[in-house]
Amino acid sequence: MMLISVGVYIAAAAVTACILFLAWRGVLAYFRFRGVRLVSCPETAESAAVEVNARHAALTRGLGHVDLQLKSCSRWPERQGCGQECLRQIEAAPEDCLVRTILTRSYQGKSCVYCRKPLEEMDWLEHRPALMRPDAVTFEWKDIPPETIPEVLLTYAPVCWNCHVATSFRRRYPDLVIDRKGREPTKPVRHKTAFSAGAQNYHSELIRS
Ligand SMILES: [Zn+2]
Repeated sequence: MMLISVGVYIAAAAVTACILFLAWRGVLAYFRFRGVRLVSCPETAESAAVEVNARHAALTRGLGHVDLQLKSCSRWPERQGCGQECLRQIEAAPEDCLVRTILTRSYQGKSCVYCRKPLEEMDWLEHRPALMRPDAVTFEWKDIPPETIPEVLLTYAPVCWNCHVATSFRRRYPDLVIDRKGREPTKPVRHKTAFSAGAQNYHSELIRS
């Protein structure tokens, strides 16, 4: 009787360990495949912003092999019936096509066009780095449609959070800003490269894939 009880406990422990292992694999898959990604649309060869169904990926990973399917695409609903062949790009390099990864790499080696502060140590949670349009208007990335990022990186310039806040305030409330006597407001320094080097690399990677 005692031996049977011990056997039941061992079997229950083995089943529990197995379930926990499969659940852990699912959790890892969920965090690996969530988030907005940029792909090169196989139909148009242009950039598209897509999101993988991370819950489905987690469930199928937990049950065996991960199965990817799209949850959203910037070309939907017009092209919702497509074959989702862009998923192969995500399978091949899930981290590289994440928008967060692309933006982080785009700021590497860059400095703010206003204050020249290096932008490699970035706070993406509270003081997110911003960008400046060629006409010197600054934006946050949340105002930019993700599918336009490769194009935006070719012409926009990097700006730190503090300079974005200051220039936005100056633009919106010019009457409330008084510059110190004899001191001109800070002007942006035009960088020859801005974001463009990183964007071209990313484009060529997309085309190769
Ligand atoms: Zn700055």
